[in-house]
Amino acid sequence: MGKVLVIGAGGVGTVVVHKMAALPEVFTEILLASRTKSKCDAIAKQIGGNRVQTAQVDADSVPELVELINSYRPDLVVNVALPYQDLTIMDACLETGVSYLDTANYEPKEEAKFEYKWQWAYQEKFKEAGLTAILGCGFDPGVTSVFTAHAAKHHFDEIQYLDIVDCNAGDHGKAFATNFNPEINIREVTQKGKYWENGQWVYTEPHEIHKTLNYPEIGPKESYLIYHEELESLVKNFPTLKRARFWMTFGQEYLTHLRVIQNIGMAGIEPVMYNGVEIVPIQFLKAVLPNPGDLGENYKGWTSIGCRIKGLKDGKEKTYYVYNNCSHEVAYKETGTQAVSYTTGVPCMIGAMMYLQGTWKKPGVFNVEEFNPDPFMAELNKHGLPWNELHDVDLEL
Ligand code: NDP
Repeated sequence: MGKVLVIGAGGVGTVVVHKMAALPEVFTEILLASRTKSKCDAIAKQIGGNRVQTAQVDADSVPELVELINSYRPDLVVNVALPYQDLTIMDACLETGVSYLDTANYEPKEEAKFEYKWQWAYQEKFKEAGLTAILGCGFDPGVTSVFTAHAAKHHFDEIQYLDIVDCNAGDHGKAFATNFNPEINIREVTQKGKYWENGQWVYTEPHEIHKTLNYPEIGPKESYLIYHEELESLVKNFPTLKRARFWMTFGQEYLTHLRVIQNIGMAGIEPVMYNGVEIVPIQFLKAVLPNPGDLGENYKGWTSIGCRIKGLKDGKEKTYYVYNNCSHEVAYKETGTQAVSYTTGVPCMIGAMMYLQGTWKKPGVFNVEEFNPDPFMAELNKHGLPWNELHDVDLEL
């Protein structure tokens, strides 16, 4: 059906190409390109069957990207490198006339601030070129956004209160490690908290608001209000929302390490001179922390991510909870990665499938909740991320 170019050979990229390779009727040809070609080669070898070709590319360079895209001529470019590369890859897609999909919104390297404004600014250019850009097609953002669209379409006349709850109850046996790229992860979780209420953003100190929430088949976990990127597009696309918040579980050990890392300046993004060499503390930290892609082997337990929603149906108040639980061990057995990479990579593959099948294909730049959620929800059940729903339950929030 189609040719794809996947950029980024990390934990998420590993899952994306594993899943694509298993569906030759959809993904007829796959090229995996990244900064370090040997990582692409290792993934291609692990998959076997000559399903995945590999290439080297510096995705910060538009001319390099343009050359690669023109030589391969894919139907879609899937960006699972880092958020820093979103705009260069979008520019290269425009220059070569190819559609685009990613899992995380653009963030400038020199400022720990992620916002959709930079990518939404490409709306007219993609529209005029007749190309599609699908933004934020991982789990959160991604599945959580599709869950919200599904709830609004099928279970409510008006959604009013949304709480996205992200629990990782897994144990990787390390004193401290992040579940996806450490630099991006630490920048995200050390930001000020922020949520939407009554038409405006409310700011909190980092981890100031927290609450014990019960997760299905897991139990109680301390959950912290943090800002997460899908809130920005969801409050825009679902204007009936009176409040939208995002909660993530953290263990005490993790938070203590994080506090120390911040206090001693290791989360800094400004370069410092060390022995005559300029280094960025958080990038140096990434180099000494465990590689998230290697955590899978001894990872036990589950993730549980979902949406707890309250609103109106037939004039009455209704509550609804839709979620997926994913086992780190099962994810590792299938793809050699832990559940955080898995829960991001599977929806990314499904989004690419939606595009190639023509289901999610229209000119312009879109967040995933702007497409029909039904075919995507059906594919989640088939490809390892089955979802469950609970009606009229206590949402605890
Ligand atoms: P990793 O750090 O494991 O992988 C990133 C990959 O991108 C690496 O292979 C890296 O190359 C490559 N890369 C980095 N810079 C460049 C560049 N300039 N040119 C080419 N390749 C480059 O990250 P993850 O796999 O954990 O995460 C991938 C993406 O997924 C991130 O954007 C992350 O924010 C997003 N994500 C989204 C989630 C969601 O639910 N929506 C959840 C988790 C992650 P090298 O190996 O040489 O360093």
